[in-house]
Amino acid sequence: MEVAETIEEIRRMVKTAHDEGRKIGLVPTMGALHIGHISLIEAAVKNCDFVIVSIFVNPTQFVPGEDFEKYPRPLEADLKICRQAGVDAVFAPLPEQMYPGENVTWVTVEKLTEPLCGQSRPEHFRGVTTVCAKLFNIIDPDAAYFGRKDAQQAIVIKRMVADLNMPLEIVVCPTVREPNGLAVSSRNQYLTAQQKKDAANIYKSLQTCRGMIDAGTTETHQIIAEMRKILQQIPSGQIEYVSIVDAETLESIDKISGKVLAAVAVKVGPARLIDNILVDAAK
Ligand code: AMP
Repeated sequence: MEVAETIEEIRRMVKTAHDEGRKIGLVPTMGALHIGHISLIEAAVKNCDFVIVSIFVNPTQFVPGEDFEKYPRPLEADLKICRQAGVDAVFAPLPEQMYPGENVTWVTVEKLTEPLCGQSRPEHFRGVTTVCAKLFNIIDPDAAYFGRKDAQQAIVIKRMVADLNMPLEIVVCPTVREPNGLAVSSRNQYLTAQQKKDAANIYKSLQTCRGMIDAGTTETHQIIAEMRKILQQIPSGQIEYVSIVDAETLESIDKISGKVLAAVAVKVGPARLIDNILVDAAK
């Protein structure tokens, strides 16, 4: 496995792979790799001939006061995971490589970035779309792999790629969970064992949502009230949002119909946790 720290190095590796006619898959990450990331790598390895994992804690997607400085950066352990998972190259640039000076050019996706996480994290998605556009320009992958765990992010990236005619496929992979249902996340490291147990209520609330929709409940306010009751049982929990939205437009809905996204953000102790499920009410 090769490791590139500069744009020049990764471009050279990509050029060789392109010249050999290989299908290039990119898995963009912020490192602190876990089984969720590994599932994306496995999907990429299965479908592509040259798999690149980017590891970059992107400063522009953190809002002031968030955990940018303390975000875990276990690079050696990450490289080992990548090697074991069959990755061909890791792109781990220093911030100066990606942002050599003041950044004045941004990629902004409107509307889809306003609800849910956009409410409390203004400019977060602008940072995500800008860094992904840069990575796509640097690496020119045939496919890029994202997790459903960050459903809004995946929808925003898909839209950016469609609207800007970027020539790659966006593949969205299922959320990987702990045995108790908690979505695996690099930020789970901030939790105590007890908080991890308590945070299982996040998935429990989403399952309750699915159960109510399956049982025929159509009023979203009724479902959200039940979900909130479950989330309020998390002792150190602070609910940021509990929303049920149209799965494509992310617009709030009063009555369930078709495909909906139920999404939750809760601060548990020091960690801001998000999770979601897709429910097709037509089924
Ligand atoms: P991050 O390193 O947190 O920026 O995540 C990198 C990618 O891994 C994103 O596309 C995430 O959606 C995805 N990801 C993170 N956690 C999980 C998970 N538990 N299951 C599936 N994908 C995940």
